[in-house]
Amino acid sequence: MYEPTNESQPTTTNTTTNTSQTTPALAGVCLVCGGECAVGDTMCTRCDGLMRGWLREYPSWLDSLHEFLDSTAHYGGHQPGRVNLPAAPTPIRLPVLDHMQEVGDMAVALWRRLYAPSAMPWANGRIHPSLLECLSVCAACPRLNRLPDIDIIWHDWESSARKTLSIIDVPPSRHGIGRCPNPLCGVELSAPIDAVEVTCPVCGGTYRVVDVRLGFLKECIASGKAFTAGECAELLRECGFQCNANTIRSWRKRGRLQPVGENVKGQPLYRLSDVHGQVVRRDSI
Ligand SMILES: [Zn+2]
Ligand SMILES: [Zn+2]
Repeated sequence: MYEPTNESQPTTTNTTTNTSQTTPALAGVCLVCGGECAVGDTMCTRCDGLMRGWLREYPSWLDSLHEFLDSTAHYGGHQPGRVNLPAAPTPIRLPVLDHMQEVGDMAVALWRRLYAPSAMPWANGRIHPSLLECLSVCAACPRLNRLPDIDIIWHDWESSARKTLSIIDVPPSRHGIGRCPNPLCGVELSAPIDAVEVTCPVCGGTYRVVDVRLGFLKECIASGKAFTAGECAELLRECGFQCNANTIRSWRKRGRLQPVGENVKGQPLYRLSDVHGQVVRRDSI
């Protein structure tokens, strides 16, 4: 009769996993960005800092989202001083409500992931800390940067943070000024026109707008970005250089500067690095 011995197994299947020789885990590689990270960690300090930053910011973002549930709210409506009439049964914005629910579900899921392994079935029921507690406990959890599926979780939180900020934090009176100077953060910052300081919504640092602009200037110079004469002059002035659009145009006429293209309106575009080079040359003479 049939005897299930090892010898009787067909030897043609080579696909059986050899558990003693599995490929080593991606030690030292951030699963989120592919950059370097400490051995044993699954994400680098930058991605880790961003993720914990979102978790720490969410309590105040949720407050702002709550204000925006009211469909009569407008940009700036979450500023203190706004008066809500208590009696008005104002229509609510359902997408905002859905989004808040989504954030709540994600926070609880993350907390369960970190604190309630399936070996503790009693913890998988409805029992979990409050939403705010889930957020703060997860933000401080030392195992966060060890999760093997952190890439999926991280990207979910990233798109959620983006969505949240698109609802609450981009009033038209604000404009993008550059990246957060915190090397662990680096998110795009926006500030009201003429603001002197800006507080990063992700890492919480406060920076001088001129420093953020200077970082943006350096980035544009390094990457070879091109702008209209007016935009070049404005950015350079914001960073403390003497420059105006007419000077840039006169440099072109005298052949000291060549545009590298034009925008949709037909205005010539100049590489910021070229304009900056002319400004520095003029100032050094
Ligand atoms: Zn990373
Ligand atoms: Zn920051």
